[in-house]
Amino acid sequence: MSAALLIDGKAAAARALAEVKAEVAALKAAGTTPCLAVILVGEDPASDVYVRNKVLRAGEAGIRSLEHRLPANTAQAELLGLIQRLNASAEVHGILLQLPLPAHLEEAAALQAISPRKDVDGFHAENVGGLSQGRAVLTPCTPSGCMQLLRDTLGELRGKHAVVVGRSNIVGKPMAALLLQADCSVTVLHSRSHNAAELCRQADIVIAAVGRPRMIGAHWLKPGAVVIDVGINRVEEHGRSRLVGDVDLDSALAKVAAITPVPGGVGPMTIAYLMKNTVTAARQLARSPEAPCLSTC
Ligand code: NDP
Repeated sequence: MSAALLIDGKAAAARALAEVKAEVAALKAAGTTPCLAVILVGEDPASDVYVRNKVLRAGEAGIRSLEHRLPANTAQAELLGLIQRLNASAEVHGILLQLPLPAHLEEAAALQAISPRKDVDGFHAENVGGLSQGRAVLTPCTPSGCMQLLRDTLGELRGKHAVVVGRSNIVGKPMAALLLQADCSVTVLHSRSHNAAELCRQADIVIAAVGRPRMIGAHWLKPGAVVIDVGINRVEEHGRSRLVGDVDLDSALAKVAAITPVPGGVGPMTIAYLMKNTVTAARQLARSPEAPCLSTC
């Protein structure tokens, strides 16, 4: 039997969503109904499930949602046209472009077309820059959810050595920026890192965001570390399909102080933070609808 704590992401997400619900009620009482527009291009089954979950959670929190389902052969100009209309709509407070897009579409240009004030994913360059300068209002949902789980588990993060495995724009890099903002000492590892396991073994906090099933075994982990496993990998085992993380949970449990399971760890927090960002965007837009922004609002 291990003494490691399994961090309950579902319970943490339920707490975060209860806060969102209360904030939505207050905004509605003041005349603003937060509204999230979700754009899905094509028919990727995984994206379809993600979008349905997001719309469902939005409804539960009292957030209005608008689904824009576009065919797989949608042209870039059509997609940009829709984004511009949503940017201009006073009813819409958050715009989420479900990724990945079909290969013929330019993802970076589409994300950049979203008004930074409605960019509830926190992927617009203006919000990325704001995060790196420690002044971001809308920060990426998955790393923000991970920070909440870390604070719930550890309390103060100052001075801890955090290792982030993975350097993607949507998880690894913003995660590192948020940890730095919380006064952690941060190491970022990637596919070209030398001695990755040895470096990771020095960490008080490990964030695994690689996308490789169970790559991080117990020999990567320091006794007593707190581990947040972002990875979601589908594997076929014993004749059935299941989801596993980037960390080998069974071996890690015997060594670490606390770890998130997959599923039931980071995933629910990502959606909860999307709702939080939608409320934040709605509040900001209600307060100053005409505030200037530097991009194509
Ligand atoms: P990407 O594929 O964009 O990035 C993976 C990163 O892992 C890259 O930086 C890559 O390095 C690094 N990497 C690959 N192999 C190794 C290795 N052997 N050692 C060290 N680093 C390595 O993935 P994402 O960041 O988008 O997602 C990561 C995982 O998180 C996926 O499983 C994804 O499904 C999951 N995810 C889960 C979410 C949730 O809500 N729970 C939300 C978003 C993602 P390099 O840059 O050198 O190529």
